[in-house]
Amino acid sequence: MALEDQQKYLEIEASAEPAATLLVGPLSETSQEIGSFIWQIIGDNLPRDLHWQFLAITLVIAVFIWLVRKGHGSRGADGRERPAPLLKFLFPKDIYTHISARVDIWLWITERVLRPLWFVGLMATVGPSAESAMIASLQGIIGASPGLEVNYGWMLLYSLITLLCYDFIFFIIHYTMHKVPVLWAVHKVHHSAEVLTPLTRYREHFLAGPIWAAGSSLSYGLVGGVFAWLFGGDITAATLFNIGFFSLLFGFNGSFRHYHVQFNYPRWLSLWLHSPAMHHIHHSYLEPHWDKNFAAVTSIWDRLFGTLYVPERDEYTPWGIGPKTQSEHRTYWQNTLGPFNDWYKMVKKGDSPQAGAVTTRKSIS
Ligand SMILES: [Zn+2]
Ligand SMILES: [Zn+2]
Repeated sequence: MALEDQQKYLEIEASAEPAATLLVGPLSETSQEIGSFIWQIIGDNLPRDLHWQFLAITLVIAVFIWLVRKGHGSRGADGRERPAPLLKFLFPKDIYTHISARVDIWLWITERVLRPLWFVGLMATVGPSAESAMIASLQGIIGASPGLEVNYGWMLLYSLITLLCYDFIFFIIHYTMHKVPVLWAVHKVHHSAEVLTPLTRYREHFLAGPIWAAGSSLSYGLVGGVFAWLFGGDITAATLFNIGFFSLLFGFNGSFRHYHVQFNYPRWLSLWLHSPAMHHIHHSYLEPHWDKNFAAVTSIWDRLFGTLYVPERDEYTPWGIGPKTQSEHRTYWQNTLGPFNDWYKMVKKGDSPQAGAVTTRKSIS
Protein backbone atom coordinates (compact mmCIF):
# COMPACT_ATOMS: atom_id res chain seq x y z
CA MET A 1 0.00 0.00 0.00
CA ALA A 2 1.39 3.42 -0.93
CA LEU A 3 2.02 5.76 1.98
CA GLU A 4 -0.72 8.19 0.95
CA ASP A 5 -3.16 5.30 0.64
CA GLN A 6 -2.14 4.05 4.05
CA GLN A 7 -2.76 7.47 5.62
CA LYS A 8 -6.14 7.77 3.88
CA TYR A 9 -7.04 4.28 4.96
CA LEU A 10 -6.27 5.16 8.57
CA GLU A 11 -8.35 8.35 8.35
CA ILE A 12 -11.29 6.50 6.83
CA GLU A 13 -11.05 3.77 9.40
CA ALA A 14 -11.00 6.31 12.24
CA SER A 15 -14.05 8.20 10.95
CA ALA A 16 -16.11 5.11 10.05
CA GLU A 17 -19.57 4.80 11.55
CA PRO A 18 -19.73 2.17 14.28
CA ALA A 19 -21.36 -1.05 13.09
CA ALA A 20 -24.99 -1.68 14.06
CA THR A 21 -25.11 -2.94 17.63
CA LEU A 22 -26.24 -6.52 18.11
CA LEU A 23 -28.49 -7.28 21.03
CA VAL A 24 -26.52 -9.46 23.46
CA GLY A 25 -27.04 -10.54 27.03
CA PRO A 26 -24.79 -9.29 29.85
CA LEU A 27 -22.79 -12.51 30.08
CA SER A 28 -21.87 -12.77 26.43
CA GLU A 29 -21.24 -9.03 26.40
CA THR A 30 -18.75 -9.37 29.25
CA SER A 31 -16.99 -12.33 27.66
CA GLN A 32 -16.87 -10.46 24.34
CA GLU A 33 -15.36 -7.47 26.08
CA ILE A 34 -12.77 -9.61 27.87
CA GLY A 35 -12.01 -11.38 24.58
CA SER A 36 -11.52 -8.16 22.63
CA PHE A 37 -9.51 -6.70 25.51
CA ILE A 38 -7.14 -9.67 25.44
CA TRP A 39 -6.86 -9.46 21.64
CA GLN A 40 -6.16 -5.75 21.96
CA ILE A 41 -3.32 -6.41 24.42
CA ILE A 42 -1.83 -9.16 22.25
CA GLY A 43 -2.19 -7.01 19.11
CA ASP A 44 -0.57 -3.98 20.74
CA ASN A 45 2.35 -5.95 22.12
CA LEU A 46 3.05 -8.56 19.49
CA PRO A 47 6.45 -7.83 17.95
CA ARG A 48 6.26 -6.85 14.31
CA ASP A 49 8.07 -9.93 13.05
CA LEU A 50 5.67 -12.24 14.86
CA HIS A 51 2.75 -10.88 12.85
CA TRP A 52 1.17 -13.47 10.60
CA GLN A 53 2.64 -12.00 7.41
CA PHE A 54 6.22 -12.58 8.56
CA LEU A 55 5.46 -15.97 10.02
CA ALA A 56 3.76 -16.89 6.74
CA ILE A 57 6.90 -15.87 4.76
CA THR A 58 9.00 -17.92 7.18
CA LEU A 59 6.78 -20.97 6.67
CA VAL A 60 6.69 -20.62 2.87
CA ILE A 61 10.50 -20.48 2.72
CA ALA A 62 10.74 -23.44 5.12
CA VAL A 63 8.42 -25.51 2.88
CA PHE A 64 10.57 -24.52 -0.09
CA ILE A 65 13.74 -25.66 1.72
CA TRP A 66 12.01 -28.94 2.64
CA LEU A 67 11.11 -29.54 -1.01
CA VAL A 68 14.49 -28.59 -2.47
CA ARG A 69 16.49 -30.51 0.16
CA LYS A 70 14.12 -33.48 0.15
CA GLY A 71 13.24 -33.28 3.83
CA HIS A 72 16.69 -32.20 5.06
CA GLY A 73 17.71 -28.87 6.56
CA SER A 74 15.97 -28.63 9.93
CA ARG A 75 17.53 -29.21 13.33
CA GLY A 76 16.30 -31.06 16.36
CA ALA A 77 16.46 -29.77 19.93
CA ASP A 78 20.03 -31.18 20.08
CA GLY A 79 21.14 -28.79 17.31
CA ARG A 80 21.82 -31.59 14.80
CA GLU A 81 20.41 -31.59 11.30
CA ARG A 82 17.88 -34.37 10.72
CA PRO A 83 15.53 -35.30 7.87
CA ALA A 84 11.83 -35.07 8.73
CA PRO A 85 8.36 -35.31 7.19
CA LEU A 86 6.84 -31.88 6.48
CA LEU A 87 4.84 -31.33 9.65
CA LYS A 88 7.69 -32.39 11.93
CA PHE A 89 10.04 -30.32 9.78
CA LEU A 90 7.97 -27.17 10.36
CA PHE A 91 6.80 -27.72 13.96
CA PRO A 92 9.03 -30.25 15.70
CA LYS A 93 7.56 -31.42 18.98
CA ASP A 94 10.91 -31.66 20.77
CA ILE A 95 11.50 -27.94 20.13
CA TYR A 96 8.05 -26.49 20.83
CA THR A 97 7.49 -28.51 24.01
CA HIS A 98 10.99 -27.81 25.33
CA ILE A 99 11.19 -25.92 28.62
CA SER A 100 13.35 -23.32 26.85
CA ALA A 101 10.48 -22.48 24.45
CA ARG A 102 8.09 -22.08 27.39
CA VAL A 103 10.54 -19.89 29.30
CA ASP A 104 10.81 -17.69 26.15
CA ILE A 105 7.13 -16.85 26.54
CA TRP A 106 7.35 -15.87 30.22
CA LEU A 107 10.51 -13.82 29.76
CA TRP A 108 8.86 -11.99 26.88
CA ILE A 109 5.74 -11.27 28.94
CA THR A 110 7.87 -9.96 31.82
CA GLU A 111 9.78 -7.65 29.49
CA ARG A 112 6.52 -6.35 27.96
CA VAL A 113 4.93 -5.71 31.35
CA LEU A 114 7.96 -3.76 32.61
CA ARG A 115 8.57 -1.93 29.32
CA PRO A 116 6.21 1.05 29.98
CA LEU A 117 8.38 1.94 32.99
CA TRP A 118 11.29 2.98 30.80
CA PHE A 119 10.21 2.94 27.16
CA VAL A 120 8.49 6.32 26.80
CA GLY A 121 11.14 8.29 28.69
CA LEU A 122 13.98 6.67 26.81
CA MET A 123 12.40 7.07 23.38
CA ALA A 124 11.50 10.69 24.12
CA THR A 125 15.05 11.61 25.11
CA VAL A 126 17.74 9.51 23.38
CA GLY A 127 16.61 9.80 19.73
CA PRO A 128 15.66 13.51 19.67
CA SER A 129 18.71 14.61 21.69
CA ALA A 130 21.09 12.63 19.43
CA GLU A 131 19.35 14.23 16.45
CA SER A 132 19.60 17.81 17.70
CA ALA A 133 23.20 17.30 18.88
CA MET A 134 24.10 16.09 15.39
CA ILE A 135 22.35 19.04 13.70
CA ALA A 136 24.04 21.49 16.05
CA SER A 137 27.50 20.04 15.45
CA LEU A 138 27.06 20.04 11.66
CA GLN A 139 25.88 23.65 11.81
CA GLY A 140 28.86 24.50 13.99
CA ILE A 141 31.43 22.68 11.86
CA ILE A 142 30.15 23.12 8.30
CA GLY A 143 27.52 25.86 8.53
CA ALA A 144 23.87 26.28 7.51
CA SER A 145 21.88 23.50 5.85
CA PRO A 146 22.50 23.19 2.09
CA GLY A 147 18.70 22.72 1.75
CA LEU A 148 18.87 19.82 -0.72
CA GLU A 149 15.78 18.60 -2.59
CA VAL A 150 14.45 15.20 -1.52
CA ASN A 151 14.33 12.59 -4.29
CA TYR A 152 14.22 8.79 -4.43
CA GLY A 153 18.01 8.52 -4.71
CA TRP A 154 18.47 10.43 -1.45
CA MET A 155 15.71 8.42 0.21
CA LEU A 156 17.44 5.20 -0.71
CA LEU A 157 20.77 6.50 0.54
CA TYR A 158 19.11 7.61 3.77
CA SER A 159 17.69 4.11 4.26
CA LEU A 160 21.01 2.47 3.51
CA ILE A 161 23.01 4.69 5.86
CA THR A 162 20.44 4.26 8.63
CA LEU A 163 20.69 0.52 8.16
CA LEU A 164 24.51 0.52 8.29
CA CYS A 165 24.56 2.83 11.32
CA TYR A 166 21.91 0.76 13.13
CA ASP A 167 23.83 -2.42 12.34
CA PHE A 168 27.10 -0.89 13.58
CA ILE A 169 25.62 0.27 16.89
CA PHE A 170 23.91 -3.11 17.28
CA PHE A 171 27.29 -4.77 16.62
CA ILE A 172 29.11 -2.61 19.20
CA ILE A 173 26.47 -3.14 21.90
CA HIS A 174 26.29 -6.87 21.21
CA TYR A 175 30.10 -7.23 21.18
CA THR A 176 30.34 -5.35 24.49
CA MET A 177 27.63 -7.51 26.02
CA HIS A 178 29.68 -10.61 25.22
CA LYS A 179 33.04 -9.24 26.32
CA VAL A 180 32.21 -7.40 29.56
CA PRO A 181 31.22 -9.89 32.30
CA VAL A 182 28.78 -7.51 34.04
CA LEU A 183 26.84 -7.22 30.77
CA TRP A 184 27.31 -10.84 29.71
CA ALA A 185 25.40 -11.76 32.89
CA VAL A 186 22.40 -9.93 31.38
CA HIS A 187 22.79 -11.07 27.76
CA LYS A 188 23.37 -14.67 28.86
CA VAL A 189 19.58 -14.97 29.27
CA HIS A 190 19.26 -14.76 25.47
CA HIS A 191 21.99 -17.39 25.07
CA SER A 192 20.59 -19.76 27.65
CA ALA A 193 17.92 -20.67 25.05
CA GLU A 194 18.41 -24.38 24.35
CA VAL A 195 16.10 -24.36 21.32
CA LEU A 196 15.31 -21.60 18.85
CA THR A 197 11.75 -20.48 18.07
CA PRO A 198 10.70 -17.16 16.48
CA LEU A 199 9.91 -15.88 19.99
CA THR A 200 13.52 -16.51 21.10
CA ARG A 201 14.44 -13.21 19.46
CA TYR A 202 12.55 -11.55 22.33
CA ARG A 203 14.01 -13.77 25.02
CA GLU A 204 15.97 -11.15 26.90
CA HIS A 205 16.40 -10.20 30.50
CA PHE A 206 14.21 -7.18 31.27
CA LEU A 207 17.36 -5.15 31.91
CA ALA A 208 18.53 -5.70 28.31
CA GLY A 209 15.49 -3.99 26.75
CA PRO A 210 16.53 -0.39 27.57
CA ILE A 211 20.09 -1.04 26.31
CA TRP A 212 18.94 -2.27 22.89
CA ALA A 213 16.25 0.41 22.63
CA ALA A 214 18.73 3.19 23.47
CA GLY A 215 21.09 1.84 20.79
CA SER A 216 18.50 1.87 18.04
CA SER A 217 17.15 5.33 19.00
CA LEU A 218 20.71 6.61 19.02
CA SER A 219 21.39 5.30 15.51
CA TYR A 220 18.11 6.66 14.09
CA GLY A 221 18.75 9.99 15.86
CA LEU A 222 22.32 10.38 14.54
CA VAL A 223 21.47 9.59 10.92
CA GLY A 224 18.19 11.54 11.19
CA GLY A 225 20.25 14.55 12.34
CA VAL A 226 22.59 14.35 9.34
CA PHE A 227 19.70 14.13 6.89
CA ALA A 228 17.64 16.80 8.66
CA TRP A 229 20.63 19.11 8.24
CA LEU A 230 21.13 18.15 4.57
CA PHE A 231 17.46 18.75 3.69
CA GLY A 232 16.75 21.64 6.03
CA GLY A 233 14.47 19.46 8.17
CA ASP A 234 12.39 18.20 5.23
CA ILE A 235 12.91 14.46 5.66
CA THR A 236 9.44 13.16 6.54
CA ALA A 237 9.07 11.20 3.33
CA ALA A 238 12.45 9.59 3.73
CA THR A 239 11.63 8.59 7.31
CA LEU A 240 8.37 6.92 6.27
CA PHE A 241 10.14 5.17 3.44
CA ASN A 242 12.62 3.86 5.94
CA ILE A 243 10.03 2.29 8.17
CA GLY A 244 8.70 0.12 5.33
CA PHE A 245 12.19 -0.87 4.30
CA PHE A 246 13.14 -1.91 7.83
CA SER A 247 9.98 -3.73 8.72
CA LEU A 248 10.49 -6.01 5.75
CA LEU A 249 14.18 -6.65 6.30
CA PHE A 250 14.13 -7.00 10.08
CA GLY A 251 10.77 -8.66 10.26
CA PHE A 252 11.70 -11.47 7.99
CA ASN A 253 15.29 -11.82 9.15
CA GLY A 254 14.28 -11.64 12.81
CA SER A 255 11.84 -14.52 12.75
CA PHE A 256 14.04 -16.79 10.62
CA ARG A 257 17.22 -16.19 12.64
CA HIS A 258 15.58 -17.92 15.57
CA TYR A 259 13.90 -20.71 13.65
CA HIS A 260 15.30 -24.25 13.69
CA VAL A 261 15.23 -24.59 9.88
CA GLN A 262 18.52 -23.55 8.33
CA PHE A 263 18.33 -20.81 5.76
CA ASN A 264 21.82 -20.45 4.28
CA TYR A 265 22.84 -17.91 1.66
CA PRO A 266 25.49 -18.63 -0.96
CA ARG A 267 28.91 -17.92 0.52
CA TRP A 268 29.48 -14.75 -1.52
CA LEU A 269 26.20 -13.26 -0.21
CA SER A 270 26.98 -14.30 3.39
CA LEU A 271 30.08 -12.12 3.18
CA TRP A 272 27.74 -9.10 2.85
CA LEU A 273 24.48 -10.08 4.53
CA HIS A 274 23.87 -12.21 7.62
CA SER A 275 21.95 -15.31 6.64
CA PRO A 276 19.53 -16.59 9.30
CA ALA A 277 21.68 -19.75 9.62
CA MET A 278 24.62 -17.58 10.69
CA HIS A 279 22.74 -16.72 13.87
CA HIS A 280 22.49 -20.45 14.66
CA ILE A 281 26.28 -20.27 14.99
CA HIS A 282 25.98 -17.32 17.35
CA HIS A 283 23.76 -19.44 19.64
CA SER A 284 26.04 -22.51 19.59
CA TYR A 285 28.01 -23.37 22.72
CA LEU A 286 30.89 -24.98 20.80
CA GLU A 287 34.05 -23.00 21.43
CA PRO A 288 34.89 -22.21 17.77
CA HIS A 289 31.45 -20.55 17.53
CA TRP A 290 31.80 -18.29 20.57
CA ASP A 291 31.63 -14.56 19.99
CA LYS A 292 30.93 -14.83 16.27
CA ASN A 293 28.35 -13.14 14.01
CA PHE A 294 27.35 -10.23 16.23
CA ALA A 295 25.56 -7.99 13.73
CA ALA A 296 21.84 -7.93 12.94
CA VAL A 297 21.62 -7.50 9.19
CA THR A 298 24.92 -7.11 7.33
CA SER A 299 28.20 -9.04 7.56
CA ILE A 300 30.27 -5.91 7.03
CA TRP A 301 31.04 -5.10 10.67
CA ASP A 302 31.81 -8.71 11.63
CA ARG A 303 34.16 -8.92 8.68
CA LEU A 304 35.94 -5.70 9.63
CA PHE A 305 36.36 -6.79 13.25
CA GLY A 306 37.27 -10.41 12.47
CA THR A 307 34.21 -12.04 14.04
CA LEU A 308 32.49 -13.34 10.91
CA TYR A 309 31.79 -17.08 10.76
CA VAL A 310 30.11 -18.45 7.64
CA PRO A 311 28.88 -21.95 8.53
CA GLU A 312 29.07 -25.10 6.45
CA ARG A 313 25.72 -26.47 5.38
CA ASP A 314 24.31 -28.60 8.24
CA GLU A 315 27.11 -27.60 10.63
CA TYR A 316 26.41 -28.92 14.14
CA THR A 317 25.26 -26.09 16.41
CA PRO A 318 24.15 -27.24 19.86
CA TRP A 319 22.34 -24.24 21.37
CA GLY A 320 22.60 -22.83 24.85
CA ILE A 321 25.45 -21.97 27.20
CA GLY A 322 26.91 -25.45 27.42
CA PRO A 323 26.39 -28.57 29.59
CA LYS A 324 28.62 -27.22 32.37
CA THR A 325 26.35 -24.37 33.44
CA GLN A 326 23.10 -24.88 31.52
CA SER A 327 21.27 -26.43 34.47
CA GLU A 328 21.77 -23.18 36.40
CA HIS A 329 20.10 -21.11 33.65
CA ARG A 330 17.13 -23.18 32.60
CA THR A 331 13.98 -22.05 34.39
CA TYR A 332 12.20 -18.70 34.32
CA TRP A 333 13.39 -17.71 37.80
CA GLN A 334 16.96 -18.88 37.19
CA ASN A 335 17.06 -16.58 34.16
CA THR A 336 15.25 -13.66 35.77
CA LEU A 337 17.46 -13.70 38.86
CA GLY A 338 20.55 -14.85 36.91
CA PRO A 339 22.25 -11.47 36.39
CA PHE A 340 21.75 -10.53 40.06
CA ASN A 341 23.27 -13.85 41.15
CA ASP A 342 26.21 -13.41 38.81
CA TRP A 343 26.86 -9.87 40.01
CA TYR A 344 26.69 -11.02 43.61
CA LYS A 345 29.26 -13.75 42.86
CA MET A 346 31.52 -11.21 41.15
CA VAL A 347 31.39 -8.84 44.11
CA LYS A 348 31.85 -11.63 46.64
CA LYS A 349 34.83 -13.09 44.83
CA GLY A 350 36.22 -9.61 44.29
CA ASP A 351 36.44 -10.34 40.60
CA SER A 352 37.15 -7.30 38.54
CA PRO A 353 35.22 -7.59 35.31
CA GLN A 354 37.76 -8.63 32.69
CA ALA A 355 37.31 -8.69 28.97
CA GLY A 356 37.55 -11.87 26.95
CA ALA A 357 35.19 -14.59 25.89
CA VAL A 358 36.90 -17.33 27.86
CA THR A 359 36.75 -15.28 31.05
CA THR A 360 33.13 -14.32 30.55
CA ARG A 361 31.91 -17.76 29.61
CA LYS A 362 33.95 -19.85 32.01
CA SER A 363 34.47 -17.85 35.15
CA ILE A 364 30.94 -16.66 35.82
CA SER A 365 28.64 -19.25 37.37
ZN1 LIG B 1 24.79 -12.70 21.72
ZN1 LIG C 1 19.64 -14.69 19.04
